[in-house]
Amino acid sequence: MKAVVFHGNNDIRFEEVVNSKIERMDDAIVRVTTSSICGSDIHIKNHGEAMGVKSGTIIGHEFVGVVEEVGDLLIGFSPGDRVAVSCIFNCGQCFYCRKGNISMCNNGTVFGGRSITGEIPHGCQAELVRIPYASNVMHKIPKNLSDEDVLFVGDILSTGFYGAERGEVKLGDTVVIVGAGPVGMCAAIGARLLGAAQIIMLDVEEYRLQMAIDKKLADVIINIEKNEAAPIILQLTQGRGADVVIEAVGSNQSFQDALTYARAGGNVSLLGVYTSEAILALNKYWRQNLTIKMGLVEVKNMGALINLISTGIIDTRFLITHTIGFDQVMDAYKVMENRLDNVLKIAIKM
Ligand SMILES: [Zn+2]
Ligand SMILES: [Zn+2]
Repeated sequence: MKAVVFHGNNDIRFEEVVNSKIERMDDAIVRVTTSSICGSDIHIKNHGEAMGVKSGTIIGHEFVGVVEEVGDLLIGFSPGDRVAVSCIFNCGQCFYCRKGNISMCNNGTVFGGRSITGEIPHGCQAELVRIPYASNVMHKIPKNLSDEDVLFVGDILSTGFYGAERGEVKLGDTVVIVGAGPVGMCAAIGARLLGAAQIIMLDVEEYRLQMAIDKKLADVIINIEKNEAAPIILQLTQGRGADVVIEAVGSNQSFQDALTYARAGGNVSLLGVYTSEAILALNKYWRQNLTIKMGLVEVKNMGALINLISTGIIDTRFLITHTIGFDQVMDAYKVMENRLDNVLKIAIKM
């Protein structure tokens, strides 16, 4: 089968590899029908070695497909089922899974990401993907929904919702979202669902900010290249700052900014993928009673989010600005990495 394979930092190749196959009795093999490239795939492409990604790993973790084959012990799924799959697989049995911190699973990891157990967790930029612990991570797609309807539910939509949930957005809150990329947009969807009254989105890309307004995800947009955000946020919150700040960039600067925008007693929820240090000036912030939460998404709400997509309450199809065939997947990586052509997300059709 064809796949996108990581061979080292800045070296991914579209090449022929052996077909994925069932290795344990609770596995499934999914034939990918549509996939996408996540911002974290770009991090893996560029910094995979430091992240623990082994050479030879098929990358990609945002996908939907059709069950091709199931292991003898897999219950509830049959060949032919259309499924959306979590970006992270987890065993369901270890200390962390039992505690509910499923993304910290001792036996699981991001598809196409770092190896935890020594076994390579091949990802979805391939014709076939092996799904370990398949019943924990696959969700059937309702008949009324297309691949595009649910393409993001296992990764960025779950991540965005997680950011809003961890930020404990409450009815009537003002929420600042730092970064109007696809994850920031999904965080806005999550914040709306949880009852945010006022969403202020910040970015440097005008087309992204405009999209946030057009889709009614943001009430106020601030281009932080042209305007200083802090005074505007203070003005919009009676001088206090935001109840919740969701950071969806992942740099020291975005972290510093996020802290500045929160009100005393507010919550700062970090979704950005940090690949270098960020500084926390406790001498400046400890008296503010801020709560800062961070981390890798716990993909726990896929079923609920699929229900909300099915009834039309959530629609993320607008994020798909480009559709291409799998043969052009390497071009898609270039477009995503360099943010060419006003891209938000690319649907890759198999
Ligand atoms: Zn991702
Ligand atoms: Zn586990």
